Amino acid sequence: MFYNSINNKLDVKKFSDIFFSSIPKNKTLFFPFKILKIKKFQISSFKKLNYVDFAFSISRLFINNISEEDLYNIIKESYNDFNFNMVLNINKIFNNNFFLNLNNGPTLTFKDIAMIPLSNILNFFSKKINKNFLIFCATSGDTGSAANNSFKNFDKIKLFTFYPFNMISNIQRKQITTLIKKNIKNISILGNFDTSQFLIKKIFENIKNNKKIFLISVNSINWFRIIMQIIYYCFCSLNIDNEKTNFIIPSGNFGNSLSAFIAKKMGFPINKIITCTNDNFFLDNFIKNNIIKDYSLKKTISPSIDISIPSNFLRLVSCNNLKKSKMNEVNKNFFSDNINNKNIISSIEYFYNKYKKIYDPHTITSLTSLIKNEKKNNVVVSTSYPIKFIFSIKKIIPGLKIKFNIKKLFFLNEKYKIFSQNFNILINFIKKQI
Ligand SMILES: *Cc1c(COP(=O)(O)O)cnc(C)c1O
Repeated sequence: MFYNSINNKLDVKKFSDIFFSSIPKNKTLFFPFKILKIKKFQISSFKKLNYVDFAFSISRLFINNISEEDLYNIIKESYNDFNFNMVLNINKIFNNNFFLNLNNGPTLTFKDIAMIPLSNILNFFSKKINKNFLIFCATSGDTGSAANNSFKNFDKIKLFTFYPFNMISNIQRKQITTLIKKNIKNISILGNFDTSQFLIKKIFENIKNNKKIFLISVNSINWFRIIMQIIYYCFCSLNIDNEKTNFIIPSGNFGNSLSAFIAKKMGFPINKIITCTNDNFFLDNFIKNNIIKDYSLKKTISPSIDISIPSNFLRLVSCNNLKKSKMNEVNKNFFSDNINNKNIISSIEYFYNKYKKIYDPHTITSLTSLIKNEKKNNVVVSTSYPIKFIFSIKKIIPGLKIKFNIKKLFFLNEKYKIFSQNFNILINFIKKQI
C-alpha cells in the first residue's frame, strides 16, 4: 500500500517510510493513497476468524516491511495475555444498541489495544536495526499509562512520557509514575497537552535522527496505532447482530473516529461515525457546521478528550485546503454531538440514581448522545474505566464506593520530574539520558 502526503499528492511514500515518522514535517501527515476496499465474500469469510487471525489478516493489508510470519507472531504475542471476551467485550443495552468495551486491557484504557503491538513491533525493529530507540509520548491521560506498561520490559528502548501537570486524574498519574523502570522517564510539564506536543516537536528538531539514534513518537497520529484501531471496528461491525452499525465515539485527537471511518471505507458494515466531544468542541463544530476554529483549551471532568486541535483530523481534510468534495465525504459519514461539562456531570448522576451504574466521564458522552437521540443499531464505544476518575465522580456522588483492585497504587512511590516550559533545561535533561 502506498501513502501520500495530505498536502501534496505527489509526495508518495511506502509503509516502511512512514512507519517510523510520526512527527509531521510542515503539517504533513500521510494517508493511504487509496483505501483498500475488501470484497463482500472476503469480508464474510473473515467472520469465522478469532481476533488474532483477524488482526493479522487486516494488518497485512497495510503493513509490508515485515515478513508475514514475524507480523503474525508479533500480533499473537501482543494479544496472548488478553482474554478477548474481556478486552473486546460487546454487550447489549437496548433496541439493538450495544457497548463495545475497549477498556479492559492492562491499564484499563482502549489505548492498550494498539500500544502493546506497537511496542512489540518497535522492539522487533530495534533489534534488527542496531540503533538507540528513543520513544516519545505526549499524553492527555491514558496514552501514558498504556505506553509505560507496554514498554516496561524493553530495557534497550528509552521512553519519555510527557503529561500536563495537574491536568490528568490522580489515578491516571499514579498509573504512569509508579511504574519505576530504568528505561522510562516521566516528564510532568507545567502546561497543557498542546504544550507537551509542542515541546516534543522541538526535541525532534533539535536532536534529529542520526547514525546512532532513532526518535519515534507514539502519539495518536502514529499510523501503526491507527491500523490496530481500524481492526477492532472491522471486527466489531462484523461480529455484532446488526445490519449496519453506527459507532458513537468519545473523541479527542480523533484517532479512534478516523479508524472507524477507514474501517467503513474498507467495506465493513458501518453506517455513521458519531464523534462526541466535551467543552473542547473543535470536532463538533467542524462536523456540524464545517467550521474550523481554534478555541483555547478548557479543563473538564473528562481530561483525556481535553484537546483543542485534534491532530488526526488533518488526515481527513487538509486545513490549508478545505475542498468541497472532502466536506461532502465528512458530511456523508460523520455525525457529531457535544456534551458539555454540566451535561456530563448530570448524566453521571442520572445513570447512578436510575440504574446504580457508574460510567467514566468520557464514555458517558457517547451514552448521553445515544439516550438523547434514541435510535437503533448504535455501538457506544467505551474508552476508559470510571475508577480512574473516582475523585471527580465522588464529587458528584458523595460516599460512592467502587470495588476495584487499585488500592495498591496508593502505596507505591511515584517517580517523575517537573519541567517548566523552558526548552533548554528540558533538552539538556533529555540529552543526558541518551
Ligand atoms: C484518548 C482517549 C479518548 C480520545 O481518543 P482519540 O483517538 O484521541 O479521539 C477518549 N477517551 C479516553 C478515555 C481516552 O483516553
